[in-house]
Amino acid sequence: MNNTRSEKICPHCAAPKMKSWHDLDDEQKFLVERLPRNTEFTREQRKKHRFCERCWFELTDSQETKV
Ligand SMILES: [Zn+2]
Repeated sequence: MNNTRSEKICPHCAAPKMKSWHDLDDEQKFLVERLPRNTEFTREQRKKHRFCERCWFELTDSQETKV
């Protein structure tokens, strides 16, 4: 009954599962790389990010440092 929060939840659409870069297939990686709002990230940075497969929100590790 313990609500452990090991899984990341998408802050955008509340999807219960976010994928890491290596969980994505080639088509999904291609799609993520073409997200217009995410052009500031390099592929190396993306490998540390998590992605919502419902709305393709990109969650960065430094998300919590944002105000
Ligand atoms: Zn989402």
